[in-house]
Amino acid sequence: MEKRKLIFATNNAHKLSEVKNVEGLNFEILSLKDVGFEGEIPEDFNTLKENAMQKARFIHEKLGLDCFADDTGLEIDALAGRPGVMSARYAGPQCNSEDNIRKVLDELKGKIIRKGRFRTVIALIMNGQEHYFEGVVQGEILSEKRGEDGFGYDPIFLPACFTHTFAQMDLALKNKISHRAKATGKLIEFLQQK
Ligand code: IMP
Repeated sequence: MEKRKLIFATNNAHKLSEVKNVEGLNFEILSLKDVGFEGEIPEDFNTLKENAMQKARFIHEKLGLDCFADDTGLEIDALAGRPGVMSARYAGPQCNSEDNIRKVLDELKGKIIRKGRFRTVIALIMNGQEHYFEGVVQGEILSEKRGEDGFGYDPIFLPACFTHTFAQMDLALKNKISHRAKATGKLIEFLQQK
């Protein structure tokens, strides 16, 4: 039987591989590149949930296929939940991860309570219905970087109950315990019942 097509509104190869190669899935997961979509996707909202659904709706309307999209942010309690939905461009539109980390560490200077969490929201549109899947990993923000691997805020994020930051951790372990892995796991569980 031919698999149903489901678009993941991303061109991030790593994110794609997390869902593409799952065994027993009755769906063919296609990236934006796979379907030849090259345009910009709007992300205008102030919450991860709204942004994820905006991206999914945009692609769904353009291509008329079932589709999902994700959005992730680092929420720090002492910063009232920032950088949150602004995580990618916290230090400004042209900034990189180094700039973002520097800004977070500056703002946290002198703060003792440094709790935070990564949160991923996946929004799915399937058969005309909208669904959400969320994954959270709790942790704390260190006062300096530790580790060379990973990306984004990994060098300053120490997941709860672990002694290594995301940037020091084996990638296979990070991919098991991460916010994205948890959200993706829920999505896959849902798709396996379809
Ligand atoms: P996105 O929604 O997956 O593009 O993530 C938005 C931003 O959150 C990224 O640009 C990173 O700065 C940050 N981020 C997302 N996931 C991670 C992660 O696993 N480690 C570190 N930073 C992350």
